[in-house]
Amino acid sequence: MTTTPTTIPGGLVDAHAHLTLDLGAGPGVAANRAAARAAGVLAVRDAGSRHGIPPDELDGAREVAAGAFLAPAGGHLPHLLEPTPPAALVDAARAQVAAGVPWIKLMADFPGPDHDWFAPAVNYDLELVAEVVRVAHAGGARVMAHVSGPVVGDLVAAGVDSIEHGPMVDEAVVEAMAERGTAWVPTVATIARRTGPLEVWRRTLPRAVALGVPVLVGTDELGPAGVAAEAEALVRLGGLSPADVLHAATEGARAVLRLPAQDGDAVTFAGDPAADVTSLARVLR
Ligand SMILES: [Zn+2]
Repeated sequence: MTTTPTTIPGGLVDAHAHLTLDLGAGPGVAANRAAARAAGVLAVRDAGSRHGIPPDELDGAREVAAGAFLAPAGGHLPHLLEPTPPAALVDAARAQVAAGVPWIKLMADFPGPDHDWFAPAVNYDLELVAEVVRVAHAGGARVMAHVSGPVVGDLVAAGVDSIEHGPMVDEAVVEAMAERGTAWVPTVATIARRTGPLEVWRRTLPRAVALGVPVLVGTDELGPAGVAAEAEALVRLGGLSPADVLHAATEGARAVLRLPAQDGDAVTFAGDPAADVTSLARVLR
């Protein structure tokens, strides 16, 4: 049996990567970039790190990045940030925007000592989050919010631009996201590793796609070579069609991230990813 190759102009887009962390590809941005590239990923949104990647160190045509994680003491893994107390949050966001950071990475909640991702402590008052959104938007930046708990609907109402993770997104939140144009990077494979797969995804993810919510593919803890695994999980665990996931990993992400395909960038896969999502794991060129 022969497999017809499929060429995707611009290649794939990873909407939630951490290029500075060692998530299996080795330490350092260069190692992560090489692993992403080998996996067919030619455009990336870095989802933040301790110091962030300075905008002038990015390939501006193919990469955007959040800055340093914004979270209070105890509101994230301690080695990953310098804490930002609530009273300093808006100024910290303003400083990042002034430095040219296009995405503010807000850790909206985080589990306490019980490690319960569905009942995390809320890190900042929603009034503060709304102020961060105003500051970001006034400076041409946007806000990506890490959230695993029930505060996700309030974050959408506060105007954040993308929900990262959001395992407690329900049908009502999906409708609010559709109305506001909020993107969703559900990172289902990363969450499934921590909590097991969630039945709710089979309702909310297809509904989100049907309503036009930009659902994007993010590798997060899978590491920069994990895009095919996340895509496959979105089909198997999330109930999305391979064609929907391919859109999420290409044009859908490019529209949200404002990273148009660059002339000459293309990736060829063995098979047709729009029919068989596992083709994304078989990069030919
Ligand atoms: Zn992340």
